[in-house]
Amino acid sequence: MALDLSFTPRPAGQLVINWHVTEACNYSCQYCYAKWEAPDRQRDLVHDPVRTKELLVRLYDFFHPDNHANPLRQDMDWSAVRLNLAGGEPLLYASRLLEMLPVARDIGFDVSLITNGSRLDPGLMASLAPSISLLGLSIDSPRAQNNREIGRMDRRGRGLDIDSLARAVDEGRRQNPALKVKVNTVVNKVNQSDDLTDVIQRLRPDKWKVLRMLPVVDDRLAVPQQAFDDFVRRHAHLAAIRHVEDNQDMTESYLMVDPMGRFFQNVEGGSARGYRYSQPILEAGASAAFVGMRFSAPKFLFRYKPPIKATE
Ligand code: SF4
Repeated sequence: MALDLSFTPRPAGQLVINWHVTEACNYSCQYCYAKWEAPDRQRDLVHDPVRTKELLVRLYDFFHPDNHANPLRQDMDWSAVRLNLAGGEPLLYASRLLEMLPVARDIGFDVSLITNGSRLDPGLMASLAPSISLLGLSIDSPRAQNNREIGRMDRRGRGLDIDSLARAVDEGRRQNPALKVKVNTVVNKVNQSDDLTDVIQRLRPDKWKVLRMLPVVDDRLAVPQQAFDDFVRRHAHLAAIRHVEDNQDMTESYLMVDPMGRFFQNVEGGSARGYRYSQPILEAGASAAFVGMRFSAPKFLFRYKPPIKATE
């Protein structure tokens, strides 16, 4: 375990573990980094409720706030653990997720979900909202043509309908008034000139995360520094909820688990596809699997600073 020791301790918050439950997605973004090596054609763990529960128990035991043997304790303090369900598109398996949410919460996790929003309707949102504290929506552009170019379209050419999504989000807030909403936008070569103001005003997120496209597996849509800075400046009026992440902020600053239950990191010089993998957590145990993973506490804490203070 290699740690950046320049960190100054801060008040306790939430530790966030991102479990990418599947690589499958109905979109095909050119820059998508959700591509993992599956040893021996293994299936995603999410399809196996018993192994899923076992994975979650092991993760929670290792990252539990009272486990002072966790190596991150040297640099960080946290009072709760949030499981962030990501993908791929996790809502392709909505029924599995709805089964898993109470299990994860019983184990002790706070739970959040990040989705491309395409499968969300008021009915599904009403079922999900009571069990999650935070809904993350990945939205890159208000323009159909740009979404098509990026790859944010399904096989039938359908992209995101912001009006429908806004109705689903409203339903989520009705069912769970404490629900926080976050929008993630990946700035890339195609959307670098877009104006997201209308999207943000309609969805009224608590936080808008603006990320510079990270060339992990593909750099065709990489955006120059000047264009990224211009995008950020153009949206200065949304600075109160906006959080900007440049490439260097992202490396080694996420705790990530892949669909097969391995920690992984997007480090330069890692194995194929730009990732370094741990041993499977179910085989080695979370503690042994975590050995060798690099993690930067200062970068992590930079990302989880306000405006979403309580849950983010
Ligand atoms: S929506 Fe997300 S998971 Fe799906 S292709 Fe795009 S980046 Fe990948």
